[in-house]
Amino acid sequence: MSTYTFRMTHTTLPILPYERGPAVVEEWDPRVVDVARLIAELVTGSRPDLIVEHIGSSAVPGLPGKNVVDLAIEAEPADVPVVAALLEDFGFARQTGPRSFPPTRPLMMGSVDHDGRRYRIHFHIHPRGNRAFGSEHSRDLGFRDALRADAALREEYAARKRAIVDGSVVDSYRYSLAKTQWIRGTLERLGLADPPLLPPATIGVLGGGQLGRMLGIAARQLGYRLVVLDPDPACPAAAVADRVVTGAYDDTRAALALAASADVVTLELEHVALDVVTRLDHEWPVRPGVWTVAATQDRIEERRFLESESAAVAPWREVRDQVDLVRAVSELGLPLRLKLARGGYDGRSQIRITSARDLARALGRIGAGPDRPAVAERELAFVAELSVVCARGVDGRAATFPVAQNRHDDGILVESVAPAAIPSAIAAGASGLAARLAEGLDLVGTLTVELFLMPDGSLVVNELAPRVHNSGHWSIEGAVTSQFEQHIRAICGLPLGSAELRAGGMATVNLLGTGPDREARASGLDRALALPGVHVHLYDKRRVFERRKMGHVTALGATVEEALARARAAAEEIRWETGRGSGRSSASSAAVGRTSRPSRRRAPS
Ligand code: ADP
Ligand code: MG
Repeated sequence: MSTYTFRMTHTTLPILPYERGPAVVEEWDPRVVDVARLIAELVTGSRPDLIVEHIGSSAVPGLPGKNVVDLAIEAEPADVPVVAALLEDFGFARQTGPRSFPPTRPLMMGSVDHDGRRYRIHFHIHPRGNRAFGSEHSRDLGFRDALRADAALREEYAARKRAIVDGSVVDSYRYSLAKTQWIRGTLERLGLADPPLLPPATIGVLGGGQLGRMLGIAARQLGYRLVVLDPDPACPAAAVADRVVTGAYDDTRAALALAASADVVTLELEHVALDVVTRLDHEWPVRPGVWTVAATQDRIEERRFLESESAAVAPWREVRDQVDLVRAVSELGLPLRLKLARGGYDGRSQIRITSARDLARALGRIGAGPDRPAVAERELAFVAELSVVCARGVDGRAATFPVAQNRHDDGILVESVAPAAIPSAIAAGASGLAARLAEGLDLVGTLTVELFLMPDGSLVVNELAPRVHNSGHWSIEGAVTSQFEQHIRAICGLPLGSAELRAGGMATVNLLGTGPDREARASGLDRALALPGVHVHLYDKRRVFERRKMGHVTALGATVEEALARARAAAEEIRWETGRGSGRSSASSAAVGRTSRPSRRRAPS
């Protein structure tokens, strides 16, 4: 590891704090060249071995832009922290927040005053030979050189930038995102884009439940290999994984063991510790990334993000104690939904509050408290629950599946149909919203947006999932490309497929467990499969219990109604019998659960 001696060579150029600015496109300012040179001299005065490159738009004479001076140093990985410390000594500060570059390839930020003007500086430190991001430095130089050499390319880029700003983008983060697609396309044309991750690369999945299993099947079909992290070595994804790393979702060591054999890391549940995702992000491409996970695993963060995107959410309050709760009730009215901010799924960790009598025990019932905040939100009288799955690739291109309409029973999804019976303008609104939110999260992978359709036709976002979703299972048979294949394509940098429907109507009915917790096996598969147009998926869970997601049935039909009738009829045939291992079940061993008919199978509303 190299060291440096701090020697201020220029007293004329103090590095000032960075100030965020709006997205404006102005003419190229020739003084940026001097700024870049002066800072380069400052750095090389202490470390003559370093090469400071001026990159980005300000490094291309004549190219309009924000005139932010981008600089980059390529350093040996072990030298990266030393270079970062040097820049800190000069007054640069590390970028902070969940959207930041990791410390292994940091972005240092600062400003300088020069010739009567303030210039913002983005100083990248690129680790040489990083296995996941090794081409970052040469790519940035190549892009700069291509723009310098090609006036037509420059003009195209300038026009693109102006169009973004004219399209009323004012936030500089949004502005950068909006450029992604053009830049990626150009890098591809120039042969500078990162190549897709091709089979037999290994995909690491945090979580080995049924979503991981179906992701794994899609990955296998394309020839990829699979490792999963799950606390249960016999998890549903184990059957399709090359290896299961057994560990909790907050076990960084286990996650590192998973990543060690993976080329890209993704997740099938957002309730993984942020520390784990952050640590993996130091060295691996994690898709979706840290910021997406942070913004979607906590209902409070999620609502803040949605509000920042001007997406409607139910009126809500953060609740940490009884005082907060009483105030929330008086401000929002009853009934309310009280949801733990973190960790809930399938309607767990949330309760309905309908009267003042519920208040005393409410926080205790969901385990909320000062360190485990909850969200109180107004219960909305929606006319339908909808969801949209949107896949977004490395290149920023998105593909949105047709809107599904969902029916829940006590918080758990029981049925999804597609396409939803809604006016096309509402469907288009839902798709557009999903694509916008996926971009706002800078998500690579799939994003599911759960929505409430209100009586006035407006859409309210219920929650986000940065992953494939139960309400998209119909896409396995019902869409040209399934949500699972789409997710794999997205995280591997491959083109997305068509998300169009393959039939007039699609329906998925979940197979939920019944009865007490016990070892179980399914019966009735033969009778279910005798019905036309039906596909049964069993997740091979060893134990069954009341309302556990054990499998699902998807049916295609000419219409949604026909598909739903078929799927329901098939689901009726599947029962959970008490059984051990692979032993044949006898009629008498099937006592539990056979007669109990879950409420979800009652006639639909
Ligand atoms: P989970 O993470 O468990 O899916 P959700 O917040 O999606 O939690 O809530 C589960 C279900 O509960 C929703 O799909 C919806 O049916 C119902 N629900 C949740 N919040 C509200 C609300 N504010 N108003 C009306 N129904 C709600
Ligand atoms: Mg939900």
